[in-house]
Amino acid sequence: MSNRQPNLPDPRHTLTADIQWENGLPISTRFNDVYFSRASGIAETRHVFLEHNHLPRRFRELVPGTTFTIGETGFGTGLNFLCAWQLFLENAPDNSSLVFISTEKYPLQQDDLQKALSVFEELTPLANRMISAYQLSEGNIDLQFSHSASGKHVSLHILIGDVLDTLPHINEKVDAWFLDGFAPAKNPDMWQPKLFQALKAKSHEQSTYATFTAARLVRDGMAEAGFSVTKQPGFGRKRDMIAGRFVPSSGLPVSKPWFAPADHRNPEKTAIVVGGGLAGCSTASSLARRGWQVNIVEQHQALASEASGNPQGVLYAKLSADNTPLSQFILKGYQFTLDTLKALEVELEVEQWQQCGVIQLAIDAKTDQRYQALDNQHPNALLQYLTEAQLSDIAGLGIRYPGLYFPQAGWVHPPALCHALADHPNIRVMTNTVVNNIEHVEQGWLIKTNGDKLHSKTVIIAQGAASPQLSQLNYLPLKAIRGQITQAKATTESEKLASCVCAEGYITPAVDGYHTLGATFSFNDKGTEVREADHLENLAMQAGYFPAMYQALGGTDAQVTGGRTGFRCTTPDYLPMVGPIVDLKHFVAAYAPLRKNSKLTIDACPEYLDGLYVTAGHGSRGIISCPVAGEILATMITGVPDSTLGLSMPAKLLEAIHPSRFLIRDLIRNKI
Ligand code: SAM
Repeated sequence: MSNRQPNLPDPRHTLTADIQWENGLPISTRFNDVYFSRASGIAETRHVFLEHNHLPRRFRELVPGTTFTIGETGFGTGLNFLCAWQLFLENAPDNSSLVFISTEKYPLQQDDLQKALSVFEELTPLANRMISAYQLSEGNIDLQFSHSASGKHVSLHILIGDVLDTLPHINEKVDAWFLDGFAPAKNPDMWQPKLFQALKAKSHEQSTYATFTAARLVRDGMAEAGFSVTKQPGFGRKRDMIAGRFVPSSGLPVSKPWFAPADHRNPEKTAIVVGGGLAGCSTASSLARRGWQVNIVEQHQALASEASGNPQGVLYAKLSADNTPLSQFILKGYQFTLDTLKALEVELEVEQWQQCGVIQLAIDAKTDQRYQALDNQHPNALLQYLTEAQLSDIAGLGIRYPGLYFPQAGWVHPPALCHALADHPNIRVMTNTVVNNIEHVEQGWLIKTNGDKLHSKTVIIAQGAASPQLSQLNYLPLKAIRGQITQAKATTESEKLASCVCAEGYITPAVDGYHTLGATFSFNDKGTEVREADHLENLAMQAGYFPAMYQALGGTDAQVTGGRTGFRCTTPDYLPMVGPIVDLKHFVAAYAPLRKNSKLTIDACPEYLDGLYVTAGHGSRGIISCPVAGEILATMITGVPDSTLGLSMPAKLLEAIHPSRFLIRDLIRNKI
């Protein structure tokens, strides 16, 4: 190693460690701090450094013949090294190598090492091997350990000197960092911007780090250097520690640091979804398909009791010709919902899902132009621009406008879809359970309900416009817009309607003797009652753009058999909110400079509330928006991108639906 490290400082004036022993525990008199935890050194090393760098899994997944590199600040007694070595031997495939590069300003003498490590019996064979090879002389320490039976190889390089001088000169990129060294309060000279910059320079896209401290200085330093920062439960009496990964700005899966992905890990593979509408059931289903155990917590007696409770929901893909993010999202969602419905076909009855096609009428010149442009952009299997006569043939009743025909679309019974999605052995539904608040505690999220307290490391809020009632989500600009649907009695003539027809409103083919007509839009209106005036409005829409249907229903004698009021949850840009939730205070502080200069380059990644996600704001297109959103969340949370249905989502789209997008917009506009 030494001949591969050309510019190392001259370490000839090495000082050794000043150790005082307390009940066999080494304490540094220079730093007045312990080398390892009194509670259990090995357990702490495993918890902090091995687990939070995901080393058991990463060692197991190593390709034979390859090398894994660990970098450490502060070699001390070598306990971390020995634990990593042991884990490597237990998990890595034959013929793989571990390179452990550590740094040490005040190395221990050989006999101090011996004394310190003698308490860890399970490490004795490896410790003895290391200690007998460990010689303090001038310069760095380079040791090689071969395991001939397995072909595994471990090399240890201790760079003697100040980490700020030595680390910037290593040639390797490091896969996992152990940020040890004494606590920042006791060793402020080490936790310097220069250290964080060196870590950045020696990291690559897969690099992770873990450290026992959660001190603000370290969190900010790591974030500023481009690492994600996630608080995790600390070991023993320590409340928090932090861990994360390097998110290089050039290779970001997202183009803006404030949209950097959350680094959430939940080995328990359990989640709680708050809200049993389409958004919640879809997310639960996507997680369950990935082997997670999910609890859906629903305040009402049954799933789909609010916005997802209408009897017939139309798969209405409102696309724009200029391929906006909203349009791209709708297209992805539409296709994903079709795939989902296909996969659930056996569970949905004929009265619950009908692939009868959907017609969108071009009722004005501008819409007509847009539809013709869309026809040129998309294959016929997706949509076709057709004349009045062609559409009339398809619809079964006279149509007065040209328009788009979506042959694979149709209508679905949203509550049936919710039940089908939630009908999975990995999903448990808890109804009549009201979530009052959620709180982050040592072991994850504590969910206080009207009944039991629930607990999970992963929580997804899917409560529509009620989501911001939880304090952690109170900044999300979600709004409820009242909408009423009408059920009108079918007649022999109206039963001829064979497809859904949409313009300003929509109408569906008859099922069980009635049609569903929708829907009104009332802003700033909280009324839950069903109103006669709204029925008339729904019928008037049919009279306006689909008079043949209006007449078929009986015109002014049309019989209204029922109706329903619901509240669409919308956002200012009509895209949903799907993704992780940030720590608001940290976010505002980290990106505050954008208030003065929106072009400023800020490398800092946001701090997320570990394991907290939202899916909401699906508006009136929940059927095509919720399933894809659930899949996106499940991919983010589990790290497993491909489900049985398969989905790829461009980074730009993930940014377009990120829950932090309005925060950053408001900061730039100096509104917060
Ligand atoms: N990782 C160690 C183990 O497994 O035993 C424990 C490390 S101990 C808590 C911290 C170590 O960091 C000490 O050995 C100390 O001498 C070293 N250290 C402190 N400041 C340093 C610096 N600026 N450069 C290099 N090493 C430093």
